[in-house]
Amino acid sequence: EAKLAGRNRYRFFDPLQDQQLACFYARIEDAGDALKNDQFQLFYQPKVDLESGEVIGCEALLRWQHPVRGLLSPADFLPPVEKHAHFALPLGDWVMETALKQIAAWQETGLDFPVSINASALQIASDDFEIKLRSQLGRYPEISPGKLEIELLETDAIKDFDHVSNVIRSCRDLGVTFAIDDFGTGYSSLAYLKQLPVNTLKIDQGFVRDSVNNPQDQEILKLIISFGQVFDLKVLAEGVETVAHAELLKTHGCRYAQGYAFAKPMPAAAVERWYRTWESGNPLGNSAPRRAS
Ligand code: C2E
Ligand code: MG
Ligand code: MG
Ligand code: MG
Repeated sequence: EAKLAGRNRYRFFDPLQDQQLACFYARIEDAGDALKNDQFQLFYQPKVDLESGEVIGCEALLRWQHPVRGLLSPADFLPPVEKHAHFALPLGDWVMETALKQIAAWQETGLDFPVSINASALQIASDDFEIKLRSQLGRYPEISPGKLEIELLETDAIKDFDHVSNVIRSCRDLGVTFAIDDFGTGYSSLAYLKQLPVNTLKIDQGFVRDSVNNPQDQEILKLIISFGQVFDLKVLAEGVETVAHAELLKTHGCRYAQGYAFAKPMPAAAVERWYRTWESGNPLGNSAPRRAS
């Protein structure tokens, strides 16, 4: 009987799938080594205030400088890695620590950017998230905890609602702020969303992309923006690629934005150069934006 079941299972043997599986494991083993060999890097993408032109912060986005495959984006390696606590948690710790180090370094040079990091489902589900955060912040007493923001995917944020809400609340007690990422893509009920103790909604770029020509997307944008207003949340639109996107969002009352229209994600040193150019004039037509404080 057991044999039969076994044989039945192997009926589904598929060389292609097998190869993909091997690749998959090679990739996550690789990712573990990559951390040891210092091949990960954070890029930073500025976020701006559409009204004042101020830079309100940067989002840290993970990159892997792969020795053979070149510069990799999260889509190229993160999905399998994120399923394994063994890799995902140390990687998450590294991201948190690297971002704090960058905040401190920027602070030294007079750049007062808050930085947001993306936290994975496993990280936020882990029992010691707040403890780790507290100890990392303890290593950088010069940084006000309000300089660190944590972005959670909408889907992850409501997965274990009570636990996640508690984690958010206790981290907010430390001064850290939270955003819901890819808002509008998670099939979450409004009943849950309205109870999540976050500070910011990040509108998924999927609603922004065609919004200029698509009246339905515009209506969705308006809905999300008013949802944010009702619950007193900051609303930031992602994937703002054109001045037309920015103007549309501004017209509908969306205050903050992030996207290629302003800057692509880039290494920290490039952000500093970008910022000096931005200060002297930007596509929003605000000739002299003030520094965020
Ligand atoms: P996300 O957090 O929603 O980040 C936004 C993504 O949109 C980034 O892709 C960014 O490069 C891209 N983007 C920014 N502006 C534009 C634009 O104007 N147009 C378009 N088409 N795209 C734009 P990226 O860097 O490839 O990251 C993809 C996702 O990977 C992120 O989505 C986030 O969910 C995840 N991720 C990135 N870094 C980390 C990390 O350190 N930890 C974890 N757990 N996840 C991360
Ligand atoms: Mg994000
Ligand atoms: Mg997003
Ligand atoms: Mg995303």
